[in-house]
Amino acid sequence: MKRKIFRSMLLLSLVTLFLSVALLSIVLYQQLADDMKRELRNQAAYVTAGYYEGDIEYLEAIRGADRESRITLVDRDGTVLFDNRADVATMDNHRDRPEIAEAFSEGEGETIRQSDTVGTQYYYLATRLVDGRVLRVSSSSDSVTDALTSSGVVIVMILILMICLAILLARFETRRIVKPINQIDLEKPMKNKVYDELAPLLIRIHRLHDSVEEQMQELAERNKHFSEITESMEEGLVILDEIGHVVSANPSALTFLESGDGEYAGRHFSTMNRSLSLRNAVEAALLGNSSETVMTAGNRSFQLRANPVTRHGEVSGVILLLLDVTEKQKSELQRREFTANVSHELKTPLTAISGYAELLKNRMVPGDEAADFAGRIFEEASGLIALVEDVIRLSQLDERSVPEPLEEVDLLMAARSVMARLASKAKQANIEMTVDGSGGLILAVPHLIEELLINLCDNGIKYNKEGGSVDISVEQVPTGIRLIVADTGIGIPAEHQERIFERFYRVDQSHSKETGGTGLGLSIVKHIAAYHKATIELTSLEGQGTSIAVTFPIAIKKSL
Ligand code: ADP
Repeated sequence: MKRKIFRSMLLLSLVTLFLSVALLSIVLYQQLADDMKRELRNQAAYVTAGYYEGDIEYLEAIRGADRESRITLVDRDGTVLFDNRADVATMDNHRDRPEIAEAFSEGEGETIRQSDTVGTQYYYLATRLVDGRVLRVSSSSDSVTDALTSSGVVIVMILILMICLAILLARFETRRIVKPINQIDLEKPMKNKVYDELAPLLIRIHRLHDSVEEQMQELAERNKHFSEITESMEEGLVILDEIGHVVSANPSALTFLESGDGEYAGRHFSTMNRSLSLRNAVEAALLGNSSETVMTAGNRSFQLRANPVTRHGEVSGVILLLLDVTEKQKSELQRREFTANVSHELKTPLTAISGYAELLKNRMVPGDEAADFAGRIFEEASGLIALVEDVIRLSQLDERSVPEPLEEVDLLMAARSVMARLASKAKQANIEMTVDGSGGLILAVPHLIEELLINLCDNGIKYNKEGGSVDISVEQVPTGIRLIVADTGIGIPAEHQERIFERFYRVDQSHSKETGGTGLGLSIVKHIAAYHKATIELTSLEGQGTSIAVTFPIAIKKSL
């Protein structure tokens, strides 16, 4: 723009300059020609006066004096009588020369033409004298051209100076015009005070600016909203572009894929995780195929869904959704193992029952032993009932299908009641039971707490020594209310301590069976504790005793 303005200005200046010079030259030429004519007329007057005084001799006398003009005297018949520039003998009759012919007829004639005699452009002024002759004074128009040429040098110099000045002025003006435009603050278009002609443009920019700002704000808002949603998602979400570069990845995805906290936007998806399943899923999606697969990262398993995003029939990106299925898989495995274990646990007593019953049916048991056999069947059946009850209880806890209301439970009172229920069993085993502590209230499902206490205390009696004791205490601790069931029994070897809360896990199979254990008691304890958000700590020394502490959160009346 700057260059264009400069060029236009310069062109305008130069055209004006050249036109002015040309017009000036014409005017000057005209002026000089007029001057020459006026001078010639004066000269003619002087020469005429001289001629009247001294006739042709006068002309002869001034022949050499005037170098500028040519003086010619023509007789009435056209014969040239005198010429200060040419030899009259060689000159032809001048009667037909236009200025002379005009002078003969009108008294005065003038013309500008090429001289046949001298050969240059002349201005002729002819005057008829009183004696009828014609005196012609002429001057070469070269004198005008010469005068013009001599001032022409000055004119050209002035012209060059003017051109330089025009260039400088054009440059200066261009800068002056463009400067305010360059200084326009497009961020605040309305605050600029430039040319009035630019006002509509600036208003338009201002409006555009406002609408762009609004759109940007809206976009930022949407982005923020999107980020907030994806950041709070438990599922991992990764969005890739059409060449597999990450557009966005939420924190869950980074954790699942063990990618670390780096910024992955704009990087290839393989920098997040190099797993083959991920690569295959992405490659398939980039070809337009959805897929669902299970991949592992670290020690966890994820269900990976890869879907192509298509626009106008072309794949423009990929959406990856990752679901942590580690727990699901683990519980499925546990369930399968549990089913297998339950079948096994049921089969053993049922086989025994069926055997005893068959013997009785075939009357192969002597009469006095029949009651004993019936007792064994009863025992096995009781074991079975206990097992089935435990299995049902566990399944209920597993499915969380215990929609029972929470109540304030006084743990100390619950412990005392359980102690009373188990008193006869403890007495039979010669075990002393005590309940102690400052007590405390918890929010719980009462019968589940009772079940937890029974299981812990029952184990304390079952796995105790003759004359041992089971001591229950309920104390307030900073983290909540702690229930401790401590016995002086056989203890649990260190290598088994990790596993005793697993289903059907028993340290000593035969001892557990003997004492009517199902192998599910501590699993139920673990479940009930988890249901009440309580923590379990086990301390046990082989041969010395076991202590199991369950810490419940302090009762705040709200649903768990
Ligand atoms: P069980 O019905 O066999 O008692 P549990 O789940 O209650 O099943 O216990 C699992 C195993 O942990 C028991 O078989 C036993 O070997 C061990 N155990 C549990 N409590 C005690 C304890 N107080 N003292 C010693 N061993 C224990």
